[in-house]
This record gives sequence, structure tokens and C-alpha cells, in this order.
Amino acid sequence: MTDQDDDRAARGDTDGGVASTRLCVGCRRDEARDDLLRFAISPDAPYLSPDPMRRLGGRGVSVHATRACITAAVRKGGFAKALRKSVSLDASALCAAASFMYEQRASSLVLAASRRKKLAIGTDAVREALRAEVVEVLLVAADAEGRRSELEGAAARLDRRCAVMGTKQSLGRLFGRDEVGVLGILDRRMGDEVVRCAAHVADLAEVE
Ligand SMILES: [Zn+2]
Repeated sequence: MTDQDDDRAARGDTDGGVASTRLCVGCRRDEARDDLLRFAISPDAPYLSPDPMRRLGGRGVSVHATRACITAAVRKGGFAKALRKSVSLDASALCAAASFMYEQRASSLVLAASRRKKLAIGTDAVREALRAEVVEVLLVAADAEGRRSELEGAAARLDRRCAVMGTKQSLGRLFGRDEVGVLGILDRRMGDEVVRCAAHVADLAEVE
């Protein structure tokens, strides 16, 4: 158990049940525990460390993984209350730290999919996998161009989801290549999790 002293204790939530919920300290709404981002609390700066996999020990505090809720938790004192002291927190830095964790998680899932031969890398391989209807999720670099729309259209026709994350360079780096614009994840469970991570990254991004 990593979050033994979470807000759960005060709220009388039961532990381990599928219906386990937490309070988002940003919008003050109850949410399924796994749909909230946990920050582990430490007595010293930076005080809050994103813990999306709920692996860090000690006390924690939960919030929707969105820029709006994290900003509200900073401004309205939700984090300060959990920390039991008033400290200066930077919402943008917290969002960036959380976003980084989700990108890391997505990257490790993509690499795991590759190791299990459940990944199509690059336009040609993805097109072939789409043709064979084995792609579960299409992952596209934000700056991908070229055949992107063709592949997105093919995925949509198969009713497969499409996630946007990283850049051609950052995706390429995972495989020791200069650039990779598109990946096809052939494993449903891994694909679902990557979609979830990409959605969090988007929700944590600065609004332009
Ligand atoms: Zn919220």
C-alpha cells in the first residue's frame, strides 16, 4: 500500500475496492481513484512529486490530471491543505512535471510493445499493419506530416483510436532513428494506456 495516509482516511473510503474514490483537491469532485493523478507529499521542496502509478510511499494528494484542476489546487489552497502548510507552488511546474511522467510512461509502453513485437514503426510498417487490421492504436507525432492524414483516415475507418504525442524526433529517439512520425500499437491494453497518457499530456499542456 503506497498511499496509506491519503485523503481516503479522512473520508472513510474503503481500500482496494473497485469503487474506491478520491477527492480532486482542484475542483473538489469525487472521482475514481485511478482516474486521478496522485502527487506524493514530501516535507521539503518541491513538496509535491507526481506519482501517476501510485508507487511512492507516504502521504499523497489526488487531483485531476488537468491544467485547470492543478491550477485551482494551487490557487484555492487544495494543495496547501494537504501539505498542512502554506508554501509557494508553481502550477506550471507541477503540470510540466506531471506531463513528463505521462510521456515517460507512454514511451516505456511503446518500447515494451516493440519488445513484444506488437509495434509497427514508421509509415510503411504502419500502413501494412493497418491493411492487415492489426493496429489497435495509431500514435502520431505532433509534427508529423506526409502520409499522416492517409493513415489517420485508415485508422478511423477501422474504428481504431489515434493519439498524438511527442515529436518526430522524440519518437525517433526511442528507436535510435532520426525521426519517426507514426507508430502502430498492436496490443489493445498497451494502446489504451498510451491513449490515456496522451490525453493527460494534452490536458496538462499550456493553453495557447
Ligand atoms: Zn478536478
